[in-house]
Amino acid sequence: MKKIQMVDLQSQYQQIKETVDASIQEVLNTSSYINGPLVHEFQKDLEDYLGVKHVIPCANGTDALQIAMMGLGLEQGDEVITADFTFAATVEVIALLKLTPVLVDVEADTFNIDIEALKKAITPKTKAIVPVHLFGQVANMDAVMEIAKQHNLFVIEDNAQAIGANYTFKDGTQKKAGTIGNVGTTSFFPSKNLGCYGDGGAIFTNDDTLAHTLRGIVNHGMYERYYHDVVGVNSRLDAIQAGVLKAKLPNLDAYCNSRRNAARFYNNAFANNPNIITPTTKSNKTANCNQICDVCDCHVFHQYTLQITNGQRDELHKHLLTKEIPNAIYYPVALHSQKAYKDERYNESDFPVTNELIKTVISLPMHTELEEDQLQFITKTIIDFFNK
Ligand SMILES: *Cc1c(COP(=O)(O)O)cnc(C)c1O
Repeated sequence: MKKIQMVDLQSQYQQIKETVDASIQEVLNTSSYINGPLVHEFQKDLEDYLGVKHVIPCANGTDALQIAMMGLGLEQGDEVITADFTFAATVEVIALLKLTPVLVDVEADTFNIDIEALKKAITPKTKAIVPVHLFGQVANMDAVMEIAKQHNLFVIEDNAQAIGANYTFKDGTQKKAGTIGNVGTTSFFPSKNLGCYGDGGAIFTNDDTLAHTLRGIVNHGMYERYYHDVVGVNSRLDAIQAGVLKAKLPNLDAYCNSRRNAARFYNNAFANNPNIITPTTKSNKTANCNQICDVCDCHVFHQYTLQITNGQRDELHKHLLTKEIPNAIYYPVALHSQKAYKDERYNESDFPVTNELIKTVISLPMHTELEEDQLQFITKTIIDFFNK
C-alpha cells in the first residue's frame, strides 16, 4: 500500500506532469511573469467554467476576502456577520479593515452558518454577510440571499473550500458556488480543491462596476498607470501559478468526483456505527441525505469530517497517527474563543454547536488520489478502534 497522506499532491502531479510542465515552460518562454498572457487566459477559462462575468485573480484567498470587502466600500464600524466555525482568514480581514466581526453559530449537520443565529445577529449596523462554504459544502444560500435582500446587505461568499460545487435553489435553478452573492472569493493554496504550486486566489462577481473597482484595488488603486484613484494593495496571481491553474482547471470536475467517491466509500464503511456521525449532504435536489448520491454536487469534500460522539476523538486522533494515518482537527478552537477575536459581546450560550464541534470533529485523509486499499485500511482501523 502506498503511504497514506492527508493530501497527496505528488501523486496528483505525476498524473498531469506533461500538461503542467508544458504550461510552466510556456510562461518561461514568454518571460512575462506578472500579468502575462497566461494569467488572462486562466481568468477567461475560469469565468467560462463558473459561468460568471468577472474573475479577478489575486495573490491568495485571504487577500481576495479583504479586497472584496474594500471594493464594496465597507467602512470602520460596519458589522459583518460570519460563522464562528471556520478558518481564521475570514474574521481576520474583517478585523484588519476595522470593520466589526459578528460571529454566529453553525448548523450541527452541515457545519455551515446557522440561519436563525444569523437572523438574530442583524442590527442597524450590519452591512454584510460572509457565508463560508465549509469543507466543500455550499451554505444555505436560498436563506442567506433572502435575508440579505430583506435587510439590504452585501453577501460575500468565502468559497475557498468549495470551488466546483453547484448550488441548486429551491426553484430548481443552479449556480456555481461563489457566484451567488454580490461577490465570491477563493484560494488556490496547494491543498485546496483547485490548488496551484504556491499562493494564489481570485474574486468573482457579475457586477461590472464592482469588477472595475476590484481590478484597480488589486493593483495599487490604479485605473490608469501611475494615477492612484483609491487606496489599493499589491495582490497579483503570478503567471507561473496561472499556468499551473490553467493546466489543472479542466480536471476540476473529475477531481470533485474523486473526492466524492472517497467520501462515499467512507460513508458506507461508517454507516450505522453508533460512535460516528458521517457528514450530512444537504441539497434542494434531494431530501436531506446522509448518502452521497451522484446528484449531490453541492458538496465537493474539501475535507471529509466525522463527528465522534463517544468522547474518544482525541484518542482516535492519536491512535490513527500510530498507524501512520494522517488526520487533522479542523478546527480545534472556536473563533470567538481565539485570543485575537475574543469580545465581551459574545456569550458562550450563543455557540452551543461550535463549542461541541471543536471537541468532536476529526478530518480524514481526503484528496484526488486515494486508493481503495488505503481507504480500506483507514476505515478498518477506525472501526476496529471502536470495537476494541
Ligand atoms: C484557505 C482559506 C482561506 C484563505 O486562503 P489563503 O489562500 O490561504 O489566504 C480563507 N477562507 C477559508 C475558509 C479557507 O479555507
